[in-house]
Amino acid sequence: MAEVTGAPAEVVPPQHPSLPAWPTEPPSVDQTGTSHLVLALGGGEDAASTARSWLAVAAAQAPTTLGVLDDVDDPEDRATLLGLVDRARTGVRVLVVGGQYDVMQALALLRARGAHESELRAFVTDRRELPVFCGHCQSVTRAVVEPGGEADCRGCGRVLEVHEHAAATLGAFLASDARAGAS
Ligand SMILES: [Zn+2]
Repeated sequence: MAEVTGAPAEVVPPQHPSLPAWPTEPPSVDQTGTSHLVLALGGGEDAASTARSWLAVAAAQAPTTLGVLDDVDDPEDRATLLGLVDRARTGVRVLVVGGQYDVMQALALLRARGAHESELRAFVTDRRELPVFCGHCQSVTRAVVEPGGEADCRGCGRVLEVHEHAAATLGAFLASDARAGAS
């Protein structure tokens, strides 16, 4: 896989595809953690059963907190998530499961709060919904779309072309005006 290093997120359209590489099976619990935070973000029964499996292993090894949320965009759920993340201490290992939109947004939030990649493990149960970052108005839209497809921006109403490029810091796929002319 080609790695894009140092490419600013503002480059639109991006020069190289960069799609998230999700594992096909739930990753294992990192037994070196001094505590664990298991986050189930929507995702239905698949996510719930993955979270339960993680919880059983993690709780046998170190203090473990479980957070079950429906939707990272819901203000109450988001406040709960921020509270859990802010209470997490050094040595915590975070396991996130849910639909792609919620997992990507939660991982970006965790990174923004100082989590290192080595502390984060994620499993996506459903790739139907993508977070789409509008390069024009900077808002993130939850859209049922494939990379390369089009989605309506909820911020500015533009029809966006969703690029095959996910920016980890944004927790979203980059997108730009689909009607502005091809590159
Ligand atoms: Zn927009």
